[in-house]
Amino acid sequence: MSTANQPQVTFWGTRGSIPTPGRTTEKFGGNTPCVSVMYKDTLVIIDAGSGIRNCGLELLSEAAAKGQKQLSLHLLLSHTHWDHIQGLPFFGPAYIKGNKLVIYGSPNKEGFLESILSDQMDTQYFPVEMSTFASDLSIEEMPEDAPLQLGDLSIEWQEQIYHPGGSVRFKISAGGKKIIYASDVELDIMFNSNEKTEETEKHAKEYLEFIDGADLLIADGQYSEEEYKTKAHWGHTSVPVLLEVAYRAGVGHLAFFHHDPLHTDKFLNDLWSQYSTKYHTADPPMHIFWAREGLTMPIG
Ligand SMILES: [Zn+2]
Ligand SMILES: [Zn+2]
Repeated sequence: MSTANQPQVTFWGTRGSIPTPGRTTEKFGGNTPCVSVMYKDTLVIIDAGSGIRNCGLELLSEAAAKGQKQLSLHLLLSHTHWDHIQGLPFFGPAYIKGNKLVIYGSPNKEGFLESILSDQMDTQYFPVEMSTFASDLSIEEMPEDAPLQLGDLSIEWQEQIYHPGGSVRFKISAGGKKIIYASDVELDIMFNSNEKTEETEKHAKEYLEFIDGADLLIADGQYSEEEYKTKAHWGHTSVPVLLEVAYRAGVGHLAFFHHDPLHTDKFLNDLWSQYSTKYHTADPPMHIFWAREGLTMPIG
């Protein structure tokens, strides 16, 4: 995660719902959502699933190697379902005095973000309270009328209502590139003609505009077409719908994300084989892959 002249994305956790360690998930990983974007000397972390633990360990070992005393970190939270916040109590840099950590969430949580995060560290659930964080911690709302500017990165966001309790998608612009993180949303409701209403049409248009021309779209594609039939309205998207929508918006690279806990490495490899050729050979092509824990990719 050392300084990068082009934006660099690292996947620390790609699994949805619950950590799933084990032999059948060792390729794509078992940790829950956490992604970092590094550009020049600014690092932005998105979501604090169990993957953030390894992200923190790496940050601390890099800082020690460089003799760097203070870390300035920004964490964007898409929402507060367990799989997106459960790693926060294990994020090492938060416990170190001198480090600065700013956590951003949706303003629509109406000030509850801080209590949600500290409640998960109540002694009934966890032995160490959030007040033990020795870093300079602040919890802020995403700005409503202008992009959030962090170093050379500019961040826009939108609410996603097609997920129980809602979630937020983020667009990070850096070095002329667009990286979108849009996990935990059920695109099938927005784009399925059987459910079409004025409202879903409006939201579909907003979504397409938001992801338009993304260099990298990291998106919820939790269910196969078959699985979706019994899991409609659970808040997640099916593979063929995501493919179709991303292609329509001219996405360059599409990362399937928030893998279902039941999906083994073999199952995900098979999905890739089933769909990749069609999109890789399309004109223009769209590169698709299933996000793998530990993968770092330059966006250039
Ligand atoms: Zn989730
Ligand atoms: Zn969720």
